[in-house]
Amino acid sequence: MTIAINVFITIFVLVFLGGAFCVFFDQAILTRKGTVYRVRTPHKKIALTFDDGPSPEWTPKILKALSKAGIKATFFMVGHHVYNYPQIARQVADEGHEIGNHGYAHSVILYYNSAEIEEEIKYTEKVIKDITGHTTNSFRPPKAWLRKSIKDKIHSMGYNIVLWSLNSKDWVNFKHQFIVNYLAKRVKRGDILLFHDSGNVLGTEGGDRSQTVLAIPLLVKKLENMGFEFVTVKELLDTKDENIQV
Ligand SMILES: [Zn+2]
Repeated sequence: MTIAINVFITIFVLVFLGGAFCVFFDQAILTRKGTVYRVRTPHKKIALTFDDGPSPEWTPKILKALSKAGIKATFFMVGHHVYNYPQIARQVADEGHEIGNHGYAHSVILYYNSAEIEEEIKYTEKVIKDITGHTTNSFRPPKAWLRKSIKDKIHSMGYNIVLWSLNSKDWVNFKHQFIVNYLAKRVKRGDILLFHDSGNVLGTEGGDRSQTVLAIPLLVKKLENMGFEFVTVKELLDTKDENIQV
């Protein structure tokens, strides 16, 4: 009986610590080396990015909010969502946003071999190109799980690995005012901000992005008042200056 209680308490503590780790810590910090996570730029420019879409429910709402705010963003799309929702993917492209590659099935590629990585990225690239007409050389690995040999392989394919410097943690469903205040306190020039237009804790679809939709107008207004300009990741990279201290 005592052993059973101890096992139960141990599992409870591990689940609690694991949850706290995911909510309060950004694992992407551990794999940033050799990736683009923030751009050294002399300009007060930043990039909004949205992962895991397109979603028939949330992407149109996010597009509407971005359009009203008058800014462009970068959408790291999951290949099979592009395949399933081609008209939404085309809408993102038609409205002038940048499209990046987030893999075909949102698989963690940490233990993929070279051929598997190539297939995952190239097939997603083909689906995005066939459906939207867009090509991209920006890849964002699901969950930012990477190791050196994988980074080398992706770079050898001519891709940038794009992570982020500021994580909205919008998947936790914090209230939008909290998200905006959290980001506004920390934002610096050249930052890449992570949001999601699909996905939840357990799957690539099915999440509630209502707080993300509400955060957009507040965030854009607040940060523009602070002098920041919102651009796509590609535009941010075009302003890159390695001599700039950040
Ligand atoms: Zn993702």
